[in-house]
Amino acid sequence: YMSGDSHGVTYMNATMLELLGFSGVEEARKATHVNCGIKIVENNSKDREISFKKWIEFVRHMDGYESLVSIMCPGKLKSDARSFIARVSRVKEDNSYIVSFVDVTVIERQKQFFHNLAMKDPLTEVYNRIKFTEEIQRETIRNRRYGTGFSVIMFDIDKFKHVNDTCGHQVGDSVLKELAALISENIRTTDIFARYGGEEFIIITPEVRLDGASQLAEKLRKIAEDHDFEHAGNLTCSFGVAEHEKQMSADELIRRADEALYRAKAEGRNRVIS
Ligand code: GH3
Ligand code: MG
Ligand code: MG
Repeated sequence: YMSGDSHGVTYMNATMLELLGFSGVEEARKATHVNCGIKIVENNSKDREISFKKWIEFVRHMDGYESLVSIMCPGKLKSDARSFIARVSRVKEDNSYIVSFVDVTVIERQKQFFHNLAMKDPLTEVYNRIKFTEEIQRETIRNRRYGTGFSVIMFDIDKFKHVNDTCGHQVGDSVLKELAALISENIRTTDIFARYGGEEFIIITPEVRLDGASQLAEKLRKIAEDHDFEHAGNLTCSFGVAEHEKQMSADELIRRADEALYRAKAEGRNRVIS
């Protein structure tokens, strides 16, 4: 725990000293008066890092303040950051405050693990529809505010029912996995790739206009067409592309991509329509 009054930090216990890399209370006292390179992130502040010094100044008079924070020490990796429940309480006798930290790193890591799991499709290991919906809402809001644009590419395997019917459902599953991996390798890490339904996938391309997204779709169409699937040989996919316009809802955008995909199917499959 730490205690501070208007003059700054007056005491820090051994565990906290060790965690922050101070040799003793005196060093901690001095360091927390200057910016000592320790960063802290409040869990609800959208990853905004502030200096430990600033944070202490901000919370030290807030009796009863409680917050989930992570602390990063200088020279350490971001993944080494530890999570704490920080709580501020006033010591009435001498007008000082105790800031206590309960280490909840293990629980936070576990939470993150299950959170990631809940965002993924178990078969293909790409994002699932829950994550997709969250991301497209975010992009829609972002485009309304900043106007940087984005597009979506929806695609569907051609005559996939035939694969299941002739080779079996397990082969069908392996094709879905193989295709998802193939597409993942050929898009940007900033693109959001999700399984939308059975054998339907969708890609959100942030800051990419219709032209760029159509070019990407055409590239992916060719890659899928040229790929020799392990148990099913050659396959093709059809693509529908649509760009978000500022006033459009996410649902409307998806509907447009779906319509384009429908046209790609109607016009003979293995093609991109935007
Ligand atoms: P089209 O060219 O018009 O898209 O024809 P299609 O046969 O691919 O289209 P349709 O939508 O009629 O059929 C989709 C099939 O995808 C139905 C189902 O057998 C198969 N499918 C959907 N989800 C899965 C899955 O998780 N695993 C497997 N193996 N097959 C799936
Ligand atoms: Mg299909
Ligand atoms: Mg389908």
